[in-house]
Amino acid sequence: MSESKSSAPGLSILLSAAILAGIMGWTGRGIADHNDGAQQPSGQEAAARTEPITAGGTGMGTFYSLKVNGDYPGGQEALARDSEEIVRRIEKEISTFDRNSELSKFNSYQGTGRFEVSRDTAIMVAETMRLGKSIGGATDITVFPLVDLWGFGPDKKPEGFVPDDASIEKAKALLGLDRLHVIVDAGRYYLQKDFPELHVDLSTVGEGYGADRFAELMDRKGVKNYLVQIAGASRSRGISPSGRPWRIAINGPQRGEDTAMETIVPQEMAVSTAGSYRNYFEKDGKRFSHAIDPVTGRPIDHRTVSVTVIAPTALETDALDTGLLVLGVDRALDYAEKTGLPIYCIVKDRNGEFVSRYSSAFKKYLAK
Ligand code: ADP
Ligand code: MG
Repeated sequence: MSESKSSAPGLSILLSAAILAGIMGWTGRGIADHNDGAQQPSGQEAAARTEPITAGGTGMGTFYSLKVNGDYPGGQEALARDSEEIVRRIEKEISTFDRNSELSKFNSYQGTGRFEVSRDTAIMVAETMRLGKSIGGATDITVFPLVDLWGFGPDKKPEGFVPDDASIEKAKALLGLDRLHVIVDAGRYYLQKDFPELHVDLSTVGEGYGADRFAELMDRKGVKNYLVQIAGASRSRGISPSGRPWRIAINGPQRGEDTAMETIVPQEMAVSTAGSYRNYFEKDGKRFSHAIDPVTGRPIDHRTVSVTVIAPTALETDALDTGLLVLGVDRALDYAEKTGLPIYCIVKDRNGEFVSRYSSAFKKYLAK
């Protein structure tokens, strides 16, 4: 969002995402863990000595769950109510299923002037753009025309339709992280697009964003020991009922839900996983995943099946995991080594076996 600009220069403050994040108090005091629904508390947590207070449900097209080890002000009922409120609010902001969400309205807005949005939405867009750009645009929140073309849009079920090159090029022309801008002006927040057809899809970071909001709720309520997750994104803090720090299992694809490839101790950091194996269609023996490479305009078809990322916030992990998955294991690890980012990749080897490769920074999170 360093490229943010205003249609009325001089009036608006052009902020970089980092500054914006600072204003919003987005510090990296994370907790967390997470993952793509494949991550579950490990066996040790299952053998808990005391029962945690739990809440959960469905929202944003997926499931969420919260576990509090200790007291929650107002008890289980309050936890359920507070968390549901957060989920509903995020849906109102960014749901692509809800035509009345803030983001849906921006997408259907046929102008190029400033469009006012909530602070939360502005932050989410700015941060995701910044992180996407940091990995060469591999996570691209303007990728919707391609998502839709390949049949992964909100109204569709992927049916194995493979579009021709001309339609792919046509859809690609409608993308562009440099053609979307976040503007802060006199304490109000706006999105602005360079052309009316530009479409913003935050579905890849909604889960991480939600996990951060859950963590924020816990901090606000003075809860010291918790594990919260929305599908593949999680945050945790303190200790589990077993009396030890929370652990999270990273599960391999096509294995039983409980079969962990690896168990990690997130150490109060956020964790999330992007996988190519949960939403896809198959045609002529080839698998087309819902993760789309904005450069080729095609679903990824390489052997990297999932990427797990650890960072202070789940918005960061969730914005990076999809793009790193798109880049594939070699480029993802290259980026991770250069930046010191902890990542863990599951790769299908030539024999069809699932093997893992991770960056140096990830090692310290592996459970002993
Ligand atoms: P996962 O199952 O890996 O957790 P997510 O739900 O986080 O997947 O994100 C997948 C969705 O993100 C897709 O359904 C699509 O709407 C969108 N998407 C696909 N490719 C990209 C991309 N390169 N950048 C950003 N969003 C993408
Ligand atoms: Mg993601």
